[in-house]
Amino acid sequence: MFDILVIGSINADLVFISDIRPKAGETVMGKDFKVLPGGKGANQAIAAARLGKKVGFIGCVGNDDNGKKLIENLRGNNVETQYIQIVDDVPTGVANIVVAEEDNSIIVIPGANYSISKDMIDKNMDILLNSKLILLQNEIPMEVIEHIIDLCFGKDIKVILNPAPAVKLKESIVNKIDYLTPNEHECKIAFGNPNTDGLLTKYPNKLIVTVGDKGVLYHDGNKKVNIPAFKVDVVDTTGAGDSFNGAFAVAIVEGNSLYESLLFANKAAAISVTKIGAQEGMPYLEDLKGL
Ligand code: ADP
Repeated sequence: MFDILVIGSINADLVFISDIRPKAGETVMGKDFKVLPGGKGANQAIAAARLGKKVGFIGCVGNDDNGKKLIENLRGNNVETQYIQIVDDVPTGVANIVVAEEDNSIIVIPGANYSISKDMIDKNMDILLNSKLILLQNEIPMEVIEHIIDLCFGKDIKVILNPAPAVKLKESIVNKIDYLTPNEHECKIAFGNPNTDGLLTKYPNKLIVTVGDKGVLYHDGNKKVNIPAFKVDVVDTTGAGDSFNGAFAVAIVEGNSLYESLLFANKAAAISVTKIGAQEGMPYLEDLKGL
């Protein structure tokens, strides 16, 4: 039914731009404000759809303006939205992003993203079992993530888990998925182990660690491999990981080797960091030709 089914988060990113970050009890005047579509699930779905795959989405938004606009945004990017549920009495997920003093601080309210339940997954079982690849992140309840992984295990469905934001993962869950794609920091937390090299060796052809402007690391069964990042003029690295995961899913579902797939993902992510915004920078297939 779908090449790629994303089961994940949809957020409105409320971006406050200010010179000064207020201290507790303080009020400051800011400079600018934007509402941008976000959520790792939505970002990765759009990354994959722009690269030409048939992408479906299972998730929840609240019965509010943000929810309506975010569904519209996914639809406008060719993501199938009919399995997104609108839930009452809970707000659409929001991220309050304060850009101040050359850094970001973020409060995320998961809201409706935490209304995704095992029951909702079971009701959509047909869609799940007829998709070629399931792409997951950690912005929905962990019990739902584990349920999905259990359902797909042993079937002809690939599963990618991008374990972000980082939490410690059960080994039984890691063993059942095809690919795990943390960045270096998330990798340490996911395994409760700072020895990235040791972990890469333990999980060959499965654990893929993104290392920012150094590209990506994995172990091919014989040796550790580093595919360097493409050299680009960096403007904004927000959403680099989301571009990477969406593109990686696209290449895997097309049947490419792991090496080829990671090269493709590196390329898409490199293009995304040359533009401002998480979703705005996500490339279309034709944008990849230039690199
Ligand atoms: P996250 O955004 O999740 O923290 P990373 O910073 O590791 O993840 O970036 C994910 C991927 O994005 C990298 O593996 C790489 O392919 C690409 N990338 C990130 N930063 C750069 C950069 N400065 N130049 C080129 N590619 C980059």
